[in-house]
Amino acid sequence: MTVRAGSCLCGARAYEIEGDIDAVWVCHCSRCRKASGSSGNSILIVPHDRFRWVRGEDHEDTFALPSGYSITRCRTCGTPLPAETDETHIYVTAGTLDAPLGKGVRTHLFCGSRADWDRDESDVRYFDERSR
Ligand SMILES: [Zn+2]
Ligand SMILES: [Zn+2]
Repeated sequence: MTVRAGSCLCGARAYEIEGDIDAVWVCHCSRCRKASGSSGNSILIVPHDRFRWVRGEDHEDTFALPSGYSITRCRTCGTPLPAETDETHIYVTAGTLDAPLGKGVRTHLFCGSRADWDRDESDVRYFDERSR
């Protein structure tokens, strides 16, 4: 069975996911934009029984709003970590995957809140590595 690893930027917190993973969900709501500092949160929805932490249990800090919205980050490097759950799944921050997923984005949520800059200009440029 395929096992995919994931970790934060400094490597203190790490996890593994067993088996195939569904396509990516992207949330563009104003809270996810603030919490990510970017266009939103990209999430993999993984059954609890196929997700396991490998290390770094003491490396998490969680910030929660009164509404219940929360974000959990690595205490050392600040990477947003998998944390939010429902009864059957954990929501894994897709950017923390260390391996290719083999799937793309299938669902965009809160598109009405999407930042107006979250689109390509007609003269958009793409570079395989950083530009000069
Ligand atoms: Zn870290
Ligand atoms: Zn959101």
